Amino acid sequence: MTSTNQTSATNPGHAPSWYAHSANDKRVRESLKGEHTADVCVIGAGFTGISAALQLAENGFKVIVVEGERIGFGASGRNGGQIVNGYSRDLEVIARRYGPDKAAKLGAMSLEGGNIIRERVAKYGIQCDLVDGGFFAAFTDKQVREMAHVRANWEKHGHTGLEMVSKAEVGKYVKADRYVGGMIDRFGGHIHPLNLVLGEAAAFESLGGQVFEKSRVTGLDMGANPVVRTAEGSVKAKYVLVCGNAYLGTMLPKITDKMMPVSSQVMATEQLDPKLIEELLPANYCVEDANYVLDYYRRTADNRLLYGGGIGYGGQDPANLTGVIRPNMLKTFPQLANAKIEFAWSGNFALTLTRIPHIGKLADNVYFSHGDSGHGVTTTHLLGKILGEAVAGHAERFDVWASLPAFPFPGGKTFRVPLTVLGAWWYGLRDKLGV
Ligand SMILES: Cc1cc2nc3c(=O)[nH]c(=O)nc-3n(C[C@H](O)[C@H](O)[C@H](O)COP(=O)(O)OP(=O)(O)OC[C@H]3O[C@@H](n4cnc5c(N)ncnc54)[C@H](O)[C@@H]3O)c2cc1C
Repeated sequence: MTSTNQTSATNPGHAPSWYAHSANDKRVRESLKGEHTADVCVIGAGFTGISAALQLAENGFKVIVVEGERIGFGASGRNGGQIVNGYSRDLEVIARRYGPDKAAKLGAMSLEGGNIIRERVAKYGIQCDLVDGGFFAAFTDKQVREMAHVRANWEKHGHTGLEMVSKAEVGKYVKADRYVGGMIDRFGGHIHPLNLVLGEAAAFESLGGQVFEKSRVTGLDMGANPVVRTAEGSVKAKYVLVCGNAYLGTMLPKITDKMMPVSSQVMATEQLDPKLIEELLPANYCVEDANYVLDYYRRTADNRLLYGGGIGYGGQDPANLTGVIRPNMLKTFPQLANAKIEFAWSGNFALTLTRIPHIGKLADNVYFSHGDSGHGVTTTHLLGKILGEAVAGHAERFDVWASLPAFPFPGGKTFRVPLTVLGAWWYGLRDKLGV
């Protein structure tokens, strides 16, 4: 069993995940040395950074991506791989808070992230085990009613892929008797996320883009031509895109005080008998449950069960990575009592107070996007594209997102984590009580 601080034995510099182990491309790119120039310099080679870089390269920009560790080192190479449409806050909440006009504009983009993934997979022949279909599992009748309500609202925004599932039909998607019903999203799905971002990075490189790995950005000089600095090199650019998300550290406090790193843990079983895994998840849809601190799981292409859950505010990992998620997996699938856990890892996503991504400008030529708040596989693809559009002079969609307010977490450095834990505890308690 692996622990958090270890890196992958077969793919150094990555977390010890099943993804790092089964990555299609294990080449280490060179690190940034000496002085470079580019139209655009992107900090961070996760989904956001690579999505923006690819969008720009496709439109003829000279782009350099500077990554502190490896491509997909952060959340993008460690997540559950679930293509979840929409945002971490439902469109109805967005309408209530920011008005129906904003909700309509965001609603019109809410399936685009998944479409971008599918288009790029097809266009560049990316091998990332793409499978269609997602299932939201409900523990209570109240959660079923909430899903039905969400579905009705989403349909108004043009999402025609949602369908309610009765208790009797749950077994078509997941063989577990914990659930009382649920909802499927035919436009959801799952992927091997590290292979997706590696494939997108390779597509970007095929268009002349450059990615430097093991090159942590330690300084950013603002100005007419901002300069990104690492220990051994620099990139002078016309534009800089900051896409470091939960791994950015304290380099840019103006934006990082509006985001909190939160960890989630994932594990993968040994390869299971194909008959058994097909029985557990017959439709090969990914599953996430409806609790506030949710479990998410799916099949892998090599017949493992990949199961995630747990949460650590402030980006703290539990001492025992499987301590919470293995018991949860066994509550869902007691059939797996004897299945060996071969991989376990943890990763950080960036949470905002509003649960809405935070996009904006630090200067006229320095843009940022972070804070997808747990549902980021699709949103990062959308927002990366939107960053690219803004640099190319089409900022209409960027402006919609940038107009949404972002707030620092209450409690300052000392109390922001305990206060958030308290809030989450309250919602977790409501889930446990089924209220
Ligand atoms: C365990 C886990 C499970 C998840 N499961 C799902 C899921 O199933 N579905 C879903 O929709 N979402 C999921 N998410 C959320 C999703 O993975 C993220 O929202 C998304 O990947 C964020 O992408 P990103 O590019 O913004 O950030 P990241 O992928 O974290 O990339 C940021 C990159 O920037 C680099 N970086 C940071 N600072 C610097 C610097 N100073 N210099 C150079 N480089 C720097 C980092 O090394 C990193 O590679 C999950 C997240 C986690 C952690």
